[in-house]
Order: sequence, then C-alpha cells, then structure tokens
Amino acid sequence: MKKSNFILSILKNKCPRCRKGKLFKNDNPYDLKKVLDMHDNCPVCGQRTELEIGFWYGTGYVSYVLAVMFSVFNLIWYWLIFGITWRDNSIFHWLIVNGIILTLSMPLLMRLSRTLYLTFYVGHDPEAENLMNRRKVEKNIQKIPSS
Ligand SMILES: [Zn+2]
Repeated sequence: MKKSNFILSILKNKCPRCRKGKLFKNDNPYDLKKVLDMHDNCPVCGQRTELEIGFWYGTGYVSYVLAVMFSVFNLIWYWLIFGITWRDNSIFHWLIVNGIILTLSMPLLMRLSRTLYLTFYVGHDPEAENLMNRRKVEKNIQKIPSS
C-alpha cells in the first residue's frame, strides 16, 4: 500500500480499515442536515464507525487542531500573495478572509475530523474486505439447506 492511498482515503472519508467503504451516507457534505449522517457499520468491511457511545465527543479537539492548521495555511498563502503588515489593516482583512474560508469549509473539516479520529483507533487491514465477502458467502451457504 502506498502512503498516498492512506492520505487519499482520509480525504475521501473512507473507512480506515478497508479504505474502500464510505463512512458517510451522503456524498455531499454541504447538505447540512445530513453532514454527519454516518453508516453504523462500514458497507464494505463491516467495521463499526461509532466505536462506543459518545465516541465522537473527542472529535472536537481534532476539528480544533484542523481549524488552527488550516488557518496557518491560509495565513501563509495570504501573506505570500497579498502581504500582511502591521502598518495597515491587512491583518484584519486576513482575519475576515480566514473566517469566511473556515466557515465555508466547516462541513468538510467536521467530516475530516471524524475520519481522522476513527483512523487513530482503527488500523488498516487489507484483508478486511475479503473477510467480509467470505463471511457473506458462508452465510449464504448456511442459508441454502434451511430454505
Ligand atoms: Zn471498511
């Protein structure tokens, strides 16, 4: 597995175990009523998403760190492109721009923080998908004699 797959699977909000299943029911994070609607279990490998009751409580810290990191990133490119000095209001212009960007990207950051948080706890298992398929096949085999 290449490292880029790891990062890509996080950015795409994929299940950390199989990196294939979607964690969120709705593809569009800007459907704000459903922004945090998640599958209870990964549709591909069956990994539980909410590991325990109140599990997502800790994502508050993750999204805080993400927001800070994102602000630093915004500060750097804004500084490079527009320049920031203490002599004029440019720092306040940046604050406004950063506030708008943060607000607009909030749904994405909220989802990303959940995916990251789950990734801290759930390791990658390349066999997870196969295991799930084998289980499905076994289930079907068991069903045949009883029906
Ligand atoms: Zn999965």
